[in-house]
Amino acid sequence: MSQLTLYGNPALHDFLHTAAATKKVPQALLIEGAKGLGKKTFAGEIARVLFCQGDGLPSCGCSACVKLARNSHPDLFYIAEEKDGDAGVLVPRPISAESVMKQLSVSTIRKISAHAPILPNEAPSKLYAVDCTFGISKEAQNAFLKILEEPPAFVQFILLSNSRSDLLDTILSRVQVLPVLPLNRADFFLAAQARELNEGAAEGLFLLSEGNFGEALSLSEPMDDPMVVLSLDFFQGFVSGKAWEILLLMEQFSDFAGKDRQKLYNLFAFLRKMCYLSFAAATLDTRQFPPFCGAALEALAAWGPSKIGALLAVIETAMEQIDANVTFPACLTAFSAGLHTIFAYDA
Ligand SMILES: [Zn+2]
Repeated sequence: MSQLTLYGNPALHDFLHTAAATKKVPQALLIEGAKGLGKKTFAGEIARVLFCQGDGLPSCGCSACVKLARNSHPDLFYIAEEKDGDAGVLVPRPISAESVMKQLSVSTIRKISAHAPILPNEAPSKLYAVDCTFGISKEAQNAFLKILEEPPAFVQFILLSNSRSDLLDTILSRVQVLPVLPLNRADFFLAAQARELNEGAAEGLFLLSEGNFGEALSLSEPMDDPMVVLSLDFFQGFVSGKAWEILLLMEQFSDFAGKDRQKLYNLFAFLRKMCYLSFAAATLDTRQFPPFCGAALEALAAWGPSKIGALLAVIETAMEQIDANVTFPACLTAFSAGLHTIFAYDA
């Protein structure tokens, strides 16, 4: 974690400084923010200021900092549930690794309650970073509430969530919420510089990601992410206006995403973003965008506002349907029908 830094977010930096000075944070925290904003990075920084034998700002050479940097600190537990397996016994785990996760179950939360009373191995406290970004069942939340009501004094909880609205009010009343915000332009460029991102691309990435640096990083490496490649193929399909081409891509997408609603949602969110950007394309220097989407944006802009508006409406309907738990095939069918209307209207 030590190589990652949280940019922007002055309120969170103030929080870290206070924590470093007092070696204390509220016993239950909730770090809130969309994927890519740096929730895990921030959780890692909290762990460091609490565990470091110095102040932990920045990482020093003490044994705690070294272990955290090596992802091997015995008092840091990252709690997430893997899709194809049991969370198993709790073993120290770094806050890390994207992997295929599913919502936290009550049995995992019960493992935390059983584990919580065991004394820390070496740090003054034991930190559980509970990743709720893939969801947490209501039953699991109620089980978690019991630990939150009377946690052992040496236990520290950090919940990670995309939005506080995913959690019960009873949980929210027991945590301090720390929102991680997107970066402003100046901070975004600082972050881009530190990662040696091409300066020309940084401007476009800033606009595309709306200041979400994690998302910008994934967009800057499109070839590493089949999802982005496919999204762009879709996008180009739209732009070319060939409905049959889009339907073929849709089929590929179904195979790829399987029944993963989040993936489908992300695809639509990406397309929606491109639509919004295309409204402004006339005032943007599209050469500043990553090459893989600058040209496509220009082409979409040429559709004109009313047709882009119609496309946006179809995309937004699809996103609402996913939110409302409409079945996967039904979503795609409605989406295809919507596209046909747009293209027919055009012809
Ligand atoms: Zn240290």
